[in-house]
Amino acid sequence: MSEERKRGFTTSILHADRASPIEHGALHKPLHLSVAYGYRDAADLVAVFQNRAQGYAYGRQGNPTTAALEAKITAMEGGVASVCFATGMAAIGAIAIALLKAGDHVVASSFVFGNTNSLLATLAAHGTAVTFVDATSAASVERALTPATRMVFVETIANPRTQVADLDAIGALCRERGLVYVVDNTMTSPWLYRPAESDASLVVNALTKYIGGHGNALGGAVTDTGRFDWTRYPNIADNYRRQKPALQAVTQLRKKALRDFGATLSAEQAHHLAIGAETLALRLDRQCANAQALADFLVHHPKVHAVHYPGLASHPQHERVRALFRAPGALLSFETADGCDMMAMLNRLQVAILSSNLGDNRTLVIPVAQTIYWEMGAARRAEMGIAETLVRVSVGIEDTADLVGDFEQALAAA
Ligand SMILES: *Cc1c(COP(=O)(O)O)cnc(C)c1O
Repeated sequence: MSEERKRGFTTSILHADRASPIEHGALHKPLHLSVAYGYRDAADLVAVFQNRAQGYAYGRQGNPTTAALEAKITAMEGGVASVCFATGMAAIGAIAIALLKAGDHVVASSFVFGNTNSLLATLAAHGTAVTFVDATSAASVERALTPATRMVFVETIANPRTQVADLDAIGALCRERGLVYVVDNTMTSPWLYRPAESDASLVVNALTKYIGGHGNALGGAVTDTGRFDWTRYPNIADNYRRQKPALQAVTQLRKKALRDFGATLSAEQAHHLAIGAETLALRLDRQCANAQALADFLVHHPKVHAVHYPGLASHPQHERVRALFRAPGALLSFETADGCDMMAMLNRLQVAILSSNLGDNRTLVIPVAQTIYWEMGAARRAEMGIAETLVRVSVGIEDTADLVGDFEQALAAA
């Protein structure tokens, strides 16, 4: 018997579905739209409901099409199991609902995605205390720890200012203190970085962004890396203690968050996201190369005051990014200089689209202070380092010359 070679990232995704037999030799896992399932006999039914046999109980807790996507995400992240949700926010909300209780304390990065920030404020209102810290340094995380701290939550690259968390050192700290370490890997995706390598316990991916990649489906996932010993975690219900330790948290996420709250990913969306995942590496390599080219162009432009991109040597965490990530990501932001009319520049863009999403194949731009950071007011924006002239660019896969040329002509006219 020939020994099977370990397959690469893209080969594994492309051939994952056919690891188990598919009707008619189809190359894709089919769309399974059935909400309910029939069983061979009563014993089979009982075994599925008691988690003793593989199978599906009801569509709210998953379906075979979504399970095929979950298997791919688990493989991409090098984890033990994943659970998918209807959106990235549902995945983060699931962690909060299923694994935290009133009286617990969470330490989170102060640069997290705005909606995550809003969710953490909601958590605080329900009795889970949250402390926000500058997660670019593990020392500030350590100073915020209390005896009630259960979890540390960070993102890899922050949006829109591109700060990079002290991922390895926070992982070491969490391991030493027995804390659950949650890393939102959306901005890097498992192609650029696997948080498991920094000892993350749970990895979040908003599939809506780079993994789906086409801006045509919402979805989220939580992956257990197998690094955390859940037998030591107090908030696992007795029912789920019967699972192998590595599966206790994902089982509770599936039961508590999907069954009780129902933010289920549909089979159609799972299929779109799985097709997107096939080209993740190809798209993201191109997007990162485009982002680097655009950042290199903007940083020398007289009408640009500052460029925030981890691929620039001037970025405060540039060395960390080189050590941890395959490439510095595809999101950058820049501030226009005095005398340049930022809004007029945006109006001149012909290739880049004015839009709030990110991770699309198309380049999307948005003025930050006037839109996604408008509600918080000027004082809070200043505290967060959000200049009034800040423009966020989610770089797509366009031909590099078209993209750089577009900003060149828009800046020239503004
Ligand atoms: C977009 C995003 C989310 C939320 O994903 P949705 O699918 O839009 O709910 C979470 N985290 C990060 C870092 C994101 O960029």
